[in-house]
Amino acid sequence: MTRPSRVRIDLDALRRNYASAKALHGGRVLAVLKADAYGHGAVACARALADGADGFAVAFMEEALELRRAGIAEPILALEGAFDANDLEAAAQHRIWLVVHQERQLAMAEHAGGPSGLTVWLKADSGMGRAGFPLAELGGAYRRLAASGRVDGIVLMTHFARADEPDARATADQVAAFDRACAGLDAPRSLANSAGILQWPSARHAWGRAGILLYGADPMPAGAPKAASLRPVMTLESEVFAVRSLPAGAPVGYGGGFVTRRPTRAGLVAIGYADGYPRVAPAGTPVAVDGRRAALIGRVSMDMLTVDLTDLPEAGIGSRVELWGRQVDVNAMAVAAGTIAYELLCNVKRVPRVYEEAGKAAAPAA
Ligand SMILES: *Cc1c(COP(=O)(O)O)cnc(C)c1O
Repeated sequence: MTRPSRVRIDLDALRRNYASAKALHGGRVLAVLKADAYGHGAVACARALADGADGFAVAFMEEALELRRAGIAEPILALEGAFDANDLEAAAQHRIWLVVHQERQLAMAEHAGGPSGLTVWLKADSGMGRAGFPLAELGGAYRRLAASGRVDGIVLMTHFARADEPDARATADQVAAFDRACAGLDAPRSLANSAGILQWPSARHAWGRAGILLYGADPMPAGAPKAASLRPVMTLESEVFAVRSLPAGAPVGYGGGFVTRRPTRAGLVAIGYADGYPRVAPAGTPVAVDGRRAALIGRVSMDMLTVDLTDLPEAGIGSRVELWGRQVDVNAMAVAAGTIAYELLCNVKRVPRVYEEAGKAAAPAA
């Protein structure tokens, strides 16, 4: 007997979301699979998308090489670029595209050895205030790469800081400043992350980079109208494995911070913060029990949490509990827990993953 907790991954939804991203953006779109595909399993997601995707992006070379070892032949971009000469060599050998965002990486790329040329995504900081060349240095960096003889292809890229805010002047300013800095440089451009693809038509250049929207979570906290057609890919679920009847005035869980206000039927669920369900989620955080809305009560433990079944008299041992997925919007859950869907999705661990796709029986996987 194993506990009934699992994370189901709907690969058809993933494919559909990618197709939506591509239709919205136009041009080509990288499917961003960093952090083990935001907790969905990078290899399985890459295989599911391999037929249709223009390419993939991950954060680091280790992640890129994992995909190559799994037989993924499509282009793969390493978003943080090379950390050392070994990375550069591996990139050339395994045809991994590299971001170059600082002088150290630029000098390494210019002097790279090996028989084949590199594909470089040259990154400028247009207002994020994080990685990237200052806009004033973009042209110079581009010309050095182009003259080096080591580089077969260059894409000019930048990343948005506030594209999830529908009216952010900052994003319009980033687009305008980046486009000005690129003027006269003969290379395709890439600006849009998920929020850019959904909400900022001016950011839709040659290449989009779709992350969170592939997984069916709306990147706009206020809800982007175009996100309505996205389908959640991940469902985190378990079952009620014990039911307690508590009087009014009873403390629930560690710390006793939550005290019942009425006679309460409390359902115990075998999932906790060791599985990635956030410990900070407060009483009242939404869950679904047999498809009906219910709420978390008491503090989340390492291996267990408690839900209020008082208003669901039919619910009991064996009732299905969804922590987030098709019934509980991961964004609503994230708001309740004071975080964002990205963090919830990529923190899921310990629970078995079950992949589902049309025409194939659900198969457990690593
Ligand atoms: C993670 C990442 C993305 C994808 O972001 P989403 O908001 O998940 O779409 C795109 N570009 C870069 C540079 C990233 O690091």
